Amino acid sequence: MAGIEKQKTHFKTVQKFKTDYAPVEIAQYESERTGMRVVVVDQKGPKVYGYFALATEIHDDSGSPHTLEHLCFMGSKSFRYKGVLDKLANRAYSSTNAWTATDHTAYTLDSAGWEGFAQILAPYLEHVLLPTLTDSGCYTEVHHIDGTGHDAGVVYSEMQGVQNDQSELMSLQARRLMYPEGNGFRYETGGMMEQLRVLTADRIREFHREMYQPKNLCLVLIGEIDHQNMLEILEKFEDGILDEVPAISAPFKRPWVESDKTPALKETIVDTVHFPEDDESSGEVMVGFFGPDVNDTLLICALEILLTYLCGSSVSVLENTLVEKEALASQVSYYTETRPDVVVWLSLSSVATEKLADVEERLFQLLRETASKSLDMAYMRDCINRFRRQIKFYAESSGDFFSEAVIEDHLYGSRDGSDLRKNESLEELDYLEVWTEEQWRKFLSKWLSDAHHVSILGVPSKALSQKLKSEEKARVKAQRDRLGEEGLKELERKLEAAKAENDKEIPREILEQFKIPGTDSIHFIPTTTARSGLAKKMGDLHNDIQMVIDKDKLDLPLFIHFEHIPSNFVTLKLVISTTFVATQLQPLLSLYLMNFFTTPISRNGKKIDFEQVVTELEKDTISYGLAPQGSNPELLQIDFRIEPEKHEAAITWLRTMLFDSVFDVTRLKASVTKMLAEIPDAKRDGDNMAAAVNAMVHWSPESSSKARNTLVKALYLKRIDRLLRDEPETVISQMESIRKSLCRFENFRVNVIANIEMLAKPVSSWKLLASSLDTTKPLNPLESRKAYLSDAARNPGNLAYIVPMPTIDSSFAYLTAKGPSSYDHPQLPALMVALSYLNAVEGPMWVAVRGTGLAYGSGFGHNKDTGLVKFSIYRSPDVFKAYEAAKKQVEGHISGTMPFDPPALDGAISNIVRRFADEQPTMGSAAAVSFTNQVIYGISKDWNNAILKQVRDVKVEQIKEVLQSVVLPVLQPESANLIVTCATIMEEDLVKNFKASGFRPEVRSLSSFQDDYGLKPKEGEDDAEDGEEEGEEDDGSEGSEASDDEDD
Ligand SMILES: [Zn+2]
Repeated sequence: MAGIEKQKTHFKTVQKFKTDYAPVEIAQYESERTGMRVVVVDQKGPKVYGYFALATEIHDDSGSPHTLEHLCFMGSKSFRYKGVLDKLANRAYSSTNAWTATDHTAYTLDSAGWEGFAQILAPYLEHVLLPTLTDSGCYTEVHHIDGTGHDAGVVYSEMQGVQNDQSELMSLQARRLMYPEGNGFRYETGGMMEQLRVLTADRIREFHREMYQPKNLCLVLIGEIDHQNMLEILEKFEDGILDEVPAISAPFKRPWVESDKTPALKETIVDTVHFPEDDESSGEVMVGFFGPDVNDTLLICALEILLTYLCGSSVSVLENTLVEKEALASQVSYYTETRPDVVVWLSLSSVATEKLADVEERLFQLLRETASKSLDMAYMRDCINRFRRQIKFYAESSGDFFSEAVIEDHLYGSRDGSDLRKNESLEELDYLEVWTEEQWRKFLSKWLSDAHHVSILGVPSKALSQKLKSEEKARVKAQRDRLGEEGLKELERKLEAAKAENDKEIPREILEQFKIPGTDSIHFIPTTTARSGLAKKMGDLHNDIQMVIDKDKLDLPLFIHFEHIPSNFVTLKLVISTTFVATQLQPLLSLYLMNFFTTPISRNGKKIDFEQVVTELEKDTISYGLAPQGSNPELLQIDFRIEPEKHEAAITWLRTMLFDSVFDVTRLKASVTKMLAEIPDAKRDGDNMAAAVNAMVHWSPESSSKARNTLVKALYLKRIDRLLRDEPETVISQMESIRKSLCRFENFRVNVIANIEMLAKPVSSWKLLASSLDTTKPLNPLESRKAYLSDAARNPGNLAYIVPMPTIDSSFAYLTAKGPSSYDHPQLPALMVALSYLNAVEGPMWVAVRGTGLAYGSGFGHNKDTGLVKFSIYRSPDVFKAYEAAKKQVEGHISGTMPFDPPALDGAISNIVRRFADEQPTMGSAAAVSFTNQVIYGISKDWNNAILKQVRDVKVEQIKEVLQSVVLPVLQPESANLIVTCATIMEEDLVKNFKASGFRPEVRSLSSFQDDYGLKPKEGEDDAEDGEEEGEEDDGSEGSEASDDEDD
């Protein structure tokens, strides 16, 4: 650690400042030897986040920036082995990642604790600045032709997956129209397939030389950083690279800032782009505008506010008119892109194909109309104030809030730090608060309603989809003919040689020269728990906060669990049990959720319309929502994030929305329409569908998470839509019945996360909710999710469904079997280590499945609540081969033919530590974990610490034992259930191969898993349509809800 005498550093301090809206200090350093820049954001918590960003500019579609990003992980000057960086990171409680944007490339290092971060920092930087960039690395990672004559390579396959996407095709055409030839923003930095096929290793090396210079590199470090130690590490790192990087005085043209300025648009262009899609019913409108100069923070801020005013919520004018009233689109969304002149993108989704041009015109008509009439200045001020509250909240509660601003400053800000300094305050908002209506209207017409723009109408085309497929087939065939048998064999040999060169085994000494860092520098954030009402039955607590709670003594039996943290904000959560909702009404919960906050209410006998409700809600809150509870989706959870002075207002809102909402046919119809619009999209996704079928098979009908599955919604909502037309009163009375079943004292558990000492009446305020409830009932116990498992989940085995889908080109699989189902199960620690070992980046599954191209991803999961153990294969050209490769790994580790790698075992344990830190990076999340552990899971607040002790003592023999008794059964037909979704042409081979392995696969259509919960169509109605669906395309579910969420 730091010596007594401060070492000489070449890093000068550019500036240090505190922000006046968040408890954060920012320090900026710059190396006088290389020009490398460092910005440190001090923040408390267990996580340390690193972003190493380079401004990258290129004037072609070669994909050099993106391919380089991949190649940097393939080894560096002193670590000449692929995967060594990730293996080191694993051991040091860290993970790495990277992305390539149009204007920059960023590498991330995400660690638990400073010590682990500090250990990886220099090796990682060496990978970025001095990568090996070998020919063999380029060959496998970027592009090659394999022995069958197909084009392959990691980056090539990645771009193949997105190049013909609707959004990619539309945005590329928009960029081509907005930026002239030779302007870097025009190009696809990910690489277009045609260019990737001819990209050379030399071109990539040249790009690296040009762009990856220390003076073009900015490190952003966020967390509990030891500044002195960091500067020492960087100083030493620089000593080692000085001879290999350009001198600080060498000429360097700063990307973007010193490039030609983008000319303004001379005219408005409306263009059409076709995208491949079999369902030709709806498309999208996308509009791009140039905005103000990126460093004019006042105007940039005004733009954000104006866009919120126009399309931030269901009451803002664009969304309210085009979506809620005229139903021309399912959503109006916007985003701004940081460029020297900021770009504004507006998009309208799910627009009827024949109306695309009209809707684009309607959008501008509406914008001009808005600019010509008087603005709602009260709402404008609400938008400003809400924006301010949200920034303050996110600055406090999201671990890496400042990273984006710092990276953007590195790209476009002044080198002297003056633009970065603008992050010190939010004073722009004060100026905007006094802007006159006239100023806002001028601003709106200048930048949007009267501004030249580029509009792209995205038109779905079945013909294009077929054309692309047949052209690609023809191209590959021509390529194979050209190469001939001998040529292909030669390529096969070349590929094998490259792989052998890349996959040289990493000498163990390289890994073991790095000691596993201690965990002392991982500082979890403490919270204080207190209880009131029925929550006290969970045990007496004696602490200062409990005394505060007890002082506000009151006979209020409502279950309230408090978590005290030194926050400036208050989070209120109401957890609601769904067990009293009748089974046949469970699917209607989706509509209840969707409608909950966008509904009229009754207040003092008067009906208040939904726009007024939303406006008031936005005024009183930072955010609000109702969704399935994250840790147990059988429960619902209402969340309010507010400032402390709105404590009672939020409780009143809870009461109002639960009890005084008015179910309104028009509003219910609007919600159903939006939900139905989302279903076709969900139905096209192979992974979503595999998860949906998996959920339909493994949950019982009483499970409310099953009832919200898309395979239920697809039928049920259609019929509700019809019922709303024919017998609206039936639907309304069913909604009332749901309300009665949910809104009961015995279903309610409250969680308050706040600086409890700042709340005037932490307990008695809740009278506002509880006063009209029958509080004499005992609390309805929280059942474990086990109670909702189907028979197939209780006794898994001998069940296999293969579901062909015409909308996908690959395959997906889920295997499910039984495992330990309690938090104190003796096998649990060994199972945690085993799964962490198998799933690790560069671990057995990664190498055997992803590394061989058998699937994009695969992994094991375990849900401690249900006990189910799952193996999933994501996007595979052949799930059977991926399954076999995985099984071979597990069997090999059991038999000993594949020995356990000791450094990787250490890495597996480190990863468990890191995951615990990932769950609770901020004080808000630490409080949430405490509540979930105690109330939802019924385990102790510090269960993590207790299990960690056991995890550290796990021996290899114990791991082998769980591999044999728990993990292997997930891959065996007699003990596991198998669900596969696949491209239709794969069906035959998959059935044959799985059969040969002992499974008894049954081919079933996706629609056969649909369930309407007994809500039948009227005679003659609906059924024809459902029949059609069967052959054509199939159904889905929202992944997060339907899939069994897993902890490991
Ligand atoms: Zn990539």
